[in-house]
Amino acid sequence: MLLTVFCNYKKYTKKLNLLYAKVVQVQDVKWQHNRCSFELMEKPPSSGKSQLDEENGLVQAAEDVDPHTSRKSSSRKSFRLDYRLEEDVTKSCQDKHGRWINPWSTWRFPSYFTLLRFLLLDKDNSKVPSSREALDVELPVMEPYFVRNPDLSESGPGLRPKSITCSVYGPKEVQRAPCTVEQLPRIDAVVISHSHYDHLDAGSVASLNARFGGELRWFVPLGLLDWFVKMGCENVMELDWWEENCVPVHDDVTFVCTPSQHWSKRTALDDNKSLWGSWTVLGPEHRFFFAGDTGYCPTFKEIGQRFGPFDLAAIPIGAYLPRDVMVGQHVDPAEAVQIHEDLQAKQSVAIHWGTFALAHEYYLDPPERLREALEQKGLKPESFFVLNHGESRLISSPHGDIFD
Ligand SMILES: [Zn+2]
Repeated sequence: MLLTVFCNYKKYTKKLNLLYAKVVQVQDVKWQHNRCSFELMEKPPSSGKSQLDEENGLVQAAEDVDPHTSRKSSSRKSFRLDYRLEEDVTKSCQDKHGRWINPWSTWRFPSYFTLLRFLLLDKDNSKVPSSREALDVELPVMEPYFVRNPDLSESGPGLRPKSITCSVYGPKEVQRAPCTVEQLPRIDAVVISHSHYDHLDAGSVASLNARFGGELRWFVPLGLLDWFVKMGCENVMELDWWEENCVPVHDDVTFVCTPSQHWSKRTALDDNKSLWGSWTVLGPEHRFFFAGDTGYCPTFKEIGQRFGPFDLAAIPIGAYLPRDVMVGQHVDPAEAVQIHEDLQAKQSVAIHWGTFALAHEYYLDPPERLREALEQKGLKPESFFVLNHGESRLISSPHGDIFD
């Protein structure tokens, strides 16, 4: 599988998402989801449990048909909820108002006093250069391999786990995207981590939908289906933590919505109305993990135990200062290295720094702190590497070169 990993960098803006007031109309449309199955489950169900699942409606019929598109999914039997029946998996949960909550004691959200201090008083040390020329020296934007050599881009599905541009409502973008939607190779699937503007950009979704239409499957956490329907997307798979599905024409690759510690907000009143998550991508020979946006929490050990070792994990390293504001929602580089170990990742790539103005650390500090954290743990720099915007890297494994 050819996998394209883009560095999703971000930093904090002074205009927090809290202040967004654009209300998205929610359409009263529900879709029947196409489901397909996965054969690499570690603990296949006993026949008794299979029967129980079927009685509870947890196992899909042989073939689902979307009432809006008449699109059919592949037909293997689904074991998608098996994990949720096991005690050692942390399930998603909501409060009595239907808002999703983080189930770990590691979750913190800053008080209004702390937020006001952050917005009005704290010193911003990010020092992002104001000129494009100066920025390009430190954060060069490179041509992705598929722009340099389009012939290489058709050898498999590409993944683009993040937005290409950010809407006017989102945080300020520091560095430009390395390519346009038109330059991307064929895309079969996109995974969405949560609703924040720097991770879910309406313009990017519209452009991808205009180019690929129903051939592109959107994997989204619970609560985001209606937003995608409103955007005109036809092929949306909304999943809870530990649920899995696949792209019908590539049903040997399974996408699992896995937990992360974060929050969601897009409008004035929709705090935590949609779920957030990480994504585990399981192929017949290789495994990839996308952490999304997250603070440190015990779930990464669970994910590592269940799905590890991963061949490659994309883990955030930026937007971590001031710590008392960010600790619950954004890992620092030392915690990112801990996640790399928890996941049993053979290699990790740093994401979530250098693109959006989000936090107060010096804008070039995250990779520096990452190097220090790796050194402290006796890990090689290549085990958790940093890419420039648009940079491509071929990653070798005992099975041969697998990622570009
Ligand atoms: Zn976020």
